Amino acid sequence: MQIPQTTIGSPVHAIGLGVHTAVNARLTLRPAAADTGIRFVRTDVDMQPVRVSPAAISDTFLASTIGNTQGSIQTIEHLLAALWGTGIDNALVEIHGPEVPILDGSSAPFVELIRSAGYRAQRKSRRFIRIDRPVRVEDGEAYAELKPHDGFRSSYTYVVDHPVINRFPTKLELDFGEADFERDVSMARTFGLLDDLPKAQAIGKCMASSEANAVGIDDDGIINAEGLRCDDEFVKHKLLDAMGDLYQLGYQVVGEFVGYMSGHTLNNRLVRALLDDPTAWSFETRQDVPLPGRAAFLS
Ligand SMILES: [Zn+2]
Repeated sequence: MQIPQTTIGSPVHAIGLGVHTAVNARLTLRPAAADTGIRFVRTDVDMQPVRVSPAAISDTFLASTIGNTQGSIQTIEHLLAALWGTGIDNALVEIHGPEVPILDGSSAPFVELIRSAGYRAQRKSRRFIRIDRPVRVEDGEAYAELKPHDGFRSSYTYVVDHPVINRFPTKLELDFGEADFERDVSMARTFGLLDDLPKAQAIGKCMASSEANAVGIDDDGIINAEGLRCDDEFVKHKLLDAMGDLYQLGYQVVGEFVGYMSGHTLNNRLVRALLDDPTAWSFETRQDVPLPGRAAFLS
């Protein structure tokens, strides 16, 4: 069947701290015309909107940053994952400030925001990127891969030699024939080692990290009083990040993602490598298998 492109029903707002900059920024999501994709713009500087694409990503250190010569917006990945997971093809993301609010460190508040805006089906058919041939990028032991698959499934492995992280599942496999982004992925929060925080803050990163927006880990355990939201929250968040980074493509992927210790840099290299090889993918508009962003057009 053909599925209509979807935008949000009305503008919605959120205000919150950027986790890296510690700047309180206002986020506005606005409906956008068919075929215009997800575009980001800062409203506190003179800037033209930038359409999301792998080439528009200007920095991948600890977060994915989109920008042009006029300005940049940090930490777009959790919002992008939510836009994919709710099936939004077209939206204008306005940020009054340098960074997307971190909110609770997961994608769940963005999903809620999008749901509260409602959905509007548009007159053009949604286009998907179908993976026709495997594409793989590596960095030492780490790798990220896209492979052909009729649907979307993903596998992520996160192995770190740490006494606390080692207690929890290191591998997650999800097939979105059954899995649901909102139910199974969106709530996983970002996390970090307390020992790493001074180093990050010395270079101006993670300036607003707290138990309100991240899971903190020391040598004895989880410092957050409420603990983890699910046993596999760490590896699940890494998959959430990867889905946000894959949506830099601006189209839902029909295929399989496999990540082994991949982060924003490798994920961005993967989507660039995919687009660089025109034999590895094709556009399609027919789609008969369940995908992560199916909820919007069914509701
Ligand atoms: Zn993240």
